[in-house]
Amino acid sequence: MGKCKHITRLLSDALDRPLTAGEWIAIGVHLPTCSGCRNYRRHIGLLRAASQEISGTGGSRDAREEQ
Ligand SMILES: [Zn+2]
Repeated sequence: MGKCKHITRLLSDALDRPLTAGEWIAIGVHLPTCSGCRNYRRHIGLLRAASQEISGTGGSRDAREEQ
């Protein structure tokens, strides 16, 4: 999937700059469908940024996000 290249790029960009809402949404719809990108996100330490930004719920989801 060519999408993965884009998503992993966004995940790495997120460490350096704020992503736009549209970029977070792109990540949020892709990650649940792609274990490769989830692994990448975990790898770079961006554990909960995407789900947090999308849901806007903040802290309470943290514990179960990565089991
Ligand atoms: Zn992917």
